[in-house]
Amino acid sequence: MDRFDDFYDETEKDEEKENIGRRLTKKAKTALLAVGLTVLLALVIIAGCFIAYGAGVAPEPVGHVIVQMESALSEAGIHVPFIGTTGGAVASPAAYEPITTPYVRPGTTSEGALDAEGNPIGASGAALTSGAALTSGAALTGGAVATPAAVEPEPQIEGDASGLYPEMKVSRPANQVSTTNVVYLTFDDGPCSVTEDVLDTLADYDVKATFFVVGNRLTEATRPIIDRMVRDGHTIGVHTTTHKYKPIYASVNAYLEDFHTTYELIHDMTGQYPKIFRFPGGSINSYNVNTHTAIINEMTKRGFTYYDWNVSAGDAASNPSEEGILLNATRGTKYKDVKKNVVVLMHDTSSLTASQLGAIIETYINEGFTFEAITPSVKPIIF
Ligand SMILES: [Zn+2]
Repeated sequence: MDRFDDFYDETEKDEEKENIGRRLTKKAKTALLAVGLTVLLALVIIAGCFIAYGAGVAPEPVGHVIVQMESALSEAGIHVPFIGTTGGAVASPAAYEPITTPYVRPGTTSEGALDAEGNPIGASGAALTSGAALTSGAALTGGAVATPAAVEPEPQIEGDASGLYPEMKVSRPANQVSTTNVVYLTFDDGPCSVTEDVLDTLADYDVKATFFVVGNRLTEATRPIIDRMVRDGHTIGVHTTTHKYKPIYASVNAYLEDFHTTYELIHDMTGQYPKIFRFPGGSINSYNVNTHTAIINEMTKRGFTYYDWNVSAGDAASNPSEEGILLNATRGTKYKDVKKNVVVLMHDTSSLTASQLGAIIETYINEGFTFEAITPSVKPIIF
């Protein structure tokens, strides 16, 4: 009996195994077919979007998402030639003419829409993949960036811009130097309420940093934050007034107008004219392909120095994680013992960044780095 039972059991088990195998095979085949069909459908939809978008007939939300994706990637240091750049599959700047809704970066506002405390209102990120996947700009800028050499000759869009705001000039030191084992933490897009947390942490560690501020956020409500930046020994630079890529990069004059507003606002609040700045999206992006050389020449001629970055926290992605931000922001440790300025891009609009700042600072300290605020005598990191 026992043996029979055993035999029966074995047989049953074998049959069961075979059944399971058959079911799995069937399931696998079905799943494979489903996946295949899904991928095919997705490819068709994506291709359709790009074709429609390139032809300027895509519905605005579709085009907007593509612009948002590109802009967010660009801000993260990843330059994707979807549109407007040479080497891309899709066409000229005119191709994105139908897009009328301005890009709103995650965590920022459109046209400086702030609440009474200067906090960002609304504005959700683009439908991008996880923040962790959008790793540091430093690691990724090398390959995909459209280098100036690869860009088409720039047409002269308008006449001499030097007549505009002729008084907007600053002095630049003759020598700008690189440092060893010094980190320049930079925070873009503020000030807002999160900035206060950032300032608290910086004070805890007695670390000096640099804030590239947005003019539309410089209000009576945020004035105490600016006052504290000055009091605590941080540097304030110009980021932009509106943070709207398309209009500010339309021409040299348009850029100067946007810059001038924030330049004067900073002076009004601090009594000092800012001498350093950071381009929204970095000095080369798909919105300034035709104007960046002229804009850079004009700003440089006026004595201003701009700073890109060689480390990015990746906190401007739509779904950044605390772990990802910490990992990305501390990649500058690879520059240990090398005479190279480490400029870290972060955003003081990101509460995740604020929460990781202490750990970021400690990581660099443990590797023997110190921190300084950027001054015009610091040699800039330029893409
Ligand atoms: Zn920005």
